Amino acid sequence: MDIVDHWISGARFAGESTRTAPVYNPAEGVVAREVRLGSVADVEAAIASAKAAFPGWAETSMAKRQQILFSFRELLNARKGDLAEILTAEHGKVIGDALGEIARGLEVVEWATGFPHLLKGEYSENVSSSVDVYSTKEPLGVIGIISPFNFPAMVPLWYFPIAIAAGNTVVLKPSEKDPSASIWMADLFKEAGLPDGVLNVVNGDKVAVDALLESPDIASISFVGSTPIARYIYETGTKHGKRVQALGGAKNHMLVLPDADLELVADSAVNAGFGSAGERCMAISVIVAVEPVADALIEKISSRMSALSVGEGHRGCDMGPLITKEHRDKVSGYIDLATVDGAKVVVDGRGVKVDGDADGFWLGPTLIDAVPTDSKVYLDEIFGPVLSIVRVKSYEEGIALINSSQYGNGSAVFTNDGGAARRFQREVQTGMVGINVPIPVPIGYYSFGGWKDSLFGDTKAYGPQGFHFFTREKAVTRRWLDPSHAGVNLGFPENK
Ligand code: NAD
Repeated sequence: MDIVDHWISGARFAGESTRTAPVYNPAEGVVAREVRLGSVADVEAAIASAKAAFPGWAETSMAKRQQILFSFRELLNARKGDLAEILTAEHGKVIGDALGEIARGLEVVEWATGFPHLLKGEYSENVSSSVDVYSTKEPLGVIGIISPFNFPAMVPLWYFPIAIAAGNTVVLKPSEKDPSASIWMADLFKEAGLPDGVLNVVNGDKVAVDALLESPDIASISFVGSTPIARYIYETGTKHGKRVQALGGAKNHMLVLPDADLELVADSAVNAGFGSAGERCMAISVIVAVEPVADALIEKISSRMSALSVGEGHRGCDMGPLITKEHRDKVSGYIDLATVDGAKVVVDGRGVKVDGDADGFWLGPTLIDAVPTDSKVYLDEIFGPVLSIVRVKSYEEGIALINSSQYGNGSAVFTNDGGAARRFQREVQTGMVGINVPIPVPIGYYSFGGWKDSLFGDTKAYGPQGFHFFTREKAVTRRWLDPSHAGVNLGFPENK
C-alpha cells in the first residue's frame, strides 16, 4: 500500500516513527493509502531543516523571492487540475468544488507576490536635530502551520506563501485525513525554485502537534480546526512563548428579512448549506427566518434540494461524501436527535440515493424546521449537509439569537432594505458579514477570521494581517556623527 511520507529538506522523508493512519477514499469507503504519523524526532528533523534554511532565505533578495513566488503561482495555476484530483480523491469534494478551493488559495498566492510593498517600513526625517527614525519589518524565524481536513489546499495556502514571502521558513502539519495535497504543493514550490528546507511538511497527529507547540525553535503557530483544539493550541502555544493565531469552529447564521428576494435566498441557502457537503467553516448552518417568510422559503429550498445529486466527485454530481464513516455517523446522529427534540425533518438525507459506491461515506442534504434553540442540533457545530430553520417574529429577536452564539465566524443578512442591512452589519457579533452574499470569505487582500470562539488570538489569516503576523517591526533611531552633539548626559533622551 502507498504511504504518504513527510517532506523535509526538499525531499520525501520516512523518519523513524512506525506509526501510521489510514487515508480513505471517502467515495468508495476504502483505505486508499497510509500516512506516517511523525514522532517528536521526526518533527525535530523538520524544524532543524527549517532552522538551517532560515538565515539564507531571510537574506535572499526580495527580487529573487518574488521571482520564486511568481513561478509557484504559474505552476500552481497550470497544474491545478492535478491538485483538484488529489482533493477529490482524499477529501471527496466534487471536482468543480475542488477547483474553487484552489482558486481561492491562488488568490492568496497572488496577494503574497506583492510582498515588497507590504514589507515597506516608515521613515521620518529630522525628528530631533539631525536624527532620523525609520522602521523595518523582519521575519520571525520558523513558522508552524497546523491545518484541518476540510480545505487541504486552501488553508495551507492561506499561510505558507505569506510566511515565506516575508522571509520565514515553515513546518506545515496538514490534516492526517487528507495529507497528500500539502506534499504535492511543497514539491511544486521546490520546482518553482524554492530552496530546500524553506517549506517542510511533517505528517502526524497530536504527537507532532505537541512537538511543534513545545519546540523553542518555532516562533509562531497558525492553526485552523475545531474550537476545542484551537483553544488548546492557543493556550499551549502562548504558554511556550509563541505568537499564536488559532481559528476555530463556526455556526453561521443567515437572517432572512420579510422583504428579501426569496428566490435569491433559496439559491444562496442551498449553495452555502450543502456545497462541499456542509464541511466548510463558512457554511450556512442556520436560517433565521423572520416571519411570515418561513413556509414559502422552506418550499423553495425543498424543491431545489430535490434536484440535488449526491455522488462520486467526477460524475457531475452536486455533492460528494463526508470525510469518514465516523463523521458521517455523527452528523446522521444529529438528524436522529432532531426528531427527539421536537424539530421537524423536512428533507431527510439518511438513505440518500447516490451515484457511486454503496460503501462511500454518504449523507444526503437535510433540512430541519422548527429547531429548538436550546437543542444540540442548534447549538453544536454539525459540519455536514444539515440546514436548520429557526423561526423568529422580528429582526430584534433574530439578531439577539445570532449574537448569543458561542461562535462568531460568519453571518449573512438577506434583505432589500439598505438601512436594515446596515443595522445588521453594525450590530452582528461576527468577524465576517455577508449582505445578500451567503459565504462572505474575504478576497485575498482583506483578512479572514471570526470573533469569539471562532478565533483565539488577535490576528486574522492572510491579507494585511497575515503579513503583520509573520513579521516583527524594528524601529531605528539614527544620527550620523555630529561633534556639536557630543557630551555626557544621563537624562532620558529628549527630542529637540
Ligand atoms: P480538528 O480540530 O479535528 O483538526 C485540525 C488539526 O488539529 C489537524 O491537523 C489535526 O491533526 C490536529 N489535531 C486534532 N486533534 C488534536 C489534538 N487532540 N491535539 C492536537 N492537535 C490535534 O479539525 P478538522 O476536523 O480537521 O476540521 C474541521 C474543523 O475545522 C471544523 O470545526 C471547522 O469549523 C474548522 N475550520 C475552521 C476554519 C476557520 O477559518 N475558522 C476553517 C476551516 C475549518
